[in-house]
Amino acid sequence: MLEIAGRKIHLPTFIPDGTFGVVRSIDSQDLESCGVQAVMMNTFHLMQKPGSSTIQALDGLHHFSGWEGLIFTDSGGFQAYSLMKENSRFGQVNSDGISFFPEGSQRKFLLTPEKCIRLQINYGSNLLFCLDDCTHVDEPDADQKIAVERTITWAKHCKQEYQKQIEQKKIEKRQRPYLFGIVQGGNSRELRKKCADALLEIGFDGYGFGGWPLNNAGELVENMVAYVREIIPMQFPLHALGIGHPAFVAKSFSLGYDLFDSAMPTRDARHGRLYRFTEPSGLEGKNWWEYMYIIDQRHIKTNRPITDNCDCHTCQHYSIAYLHHLYKINDNLFMRLATIHNLRFMTQLCERLRQPAHD
Ligand SMILES: [Zn+2]
Repeated sequence: MLEIAGRKIHLPTFIPDGTFGVVRSIDSQDLESCGVQAVMMNTFHLMQKPGSSTIQALDGLHHFSGWEGLIFTDSGGFQAYSLMKENSRFGQVNSDGISFFPEGSQRKFLLTPEKCIRLQINYGSNLLFCLDDCTHVDEPDADQKIAVERTITWAKHCKQEYQKQIEQKKIEKRQRPYLFGIVQGGNSRELRKKCADALLEIGFDGYGFGGWPLNNAGELVENMVAYVREIIPMQFPLHALGIGHPAFVAKSFSLGYDLFDSAMPTRDARHGRLYRFTEPSGLEGKNWWEYMYIIDQRHIKTNRPITDNCDCHTCQHYSIAYLHHLYKINDNLFMRLATIHNLRFMTQLCERLRQPAHD
């Protein structure tokens, strides 16, 4: 259990990505009905669309999006990394921060650690992440070393700015947002330890496993994920950033992680890849879940829900045959119904993990 700004959150929990202030195709009532406790929104994307001054003018992200649950905001380090990897002209990372050209703009923008914290506080976020220099585990050690040094320096600046903002805005202790540091270091135990030790010394409310969590073969970098839990004391919550594959969520939970976020379950839903449990309860054996591809022609007359005992709005009201039809005619309703089901699957997965056998 974690309590932030007077709101309790049961752990483990899966946090869907609502990058631009929306979990695509569903609204806050749908999120609530799926048992979602928090949504991860993105500082970096929101500062471009609709822009930070717009969000502030509309009383922050909760009011703007109509979501009354908790809002986490990712710092932007990971997004900048992904965009620059695709296109190096997009921007660059230097010791001051991340400089880039926002989409369709000729004006260069610099995201510094201080700016990153000010934006997140002004958005009304409940859990802030420090700006970090993100890497892929397979990148060379020399690059990882620079990224770790930057991440540590930026974390210091973030903490200082955070304290300054809390004081200036007179935010009460009970209402204050949490601030998490992100442990970088790629595939080097030495660098991960160096980063974790420095962050622990600065002092945060919790920590995140940073960097791309999968190797080139698409497998979870299990050794590193386990190691970071070993070096972050158990009293601190640990967030597995970007981990949303059901098997990886279960694995990371068994290694001591509490919080997970990813765009994958909702993106898969929109593409017709639905998740379902193969067992009515528990997570026994290796094959406790499977994909169901709605496009498959054999679903044309299947008159039953995706999962018989699923309590989600979709399974309670609609057959697989109807979903197959909606998908084929490319109706938006498919996206909503599929997203609701996959999200409920993820919250059910967390409920199953909370059962005593998995404590
Ligand atoms: Zn369902």
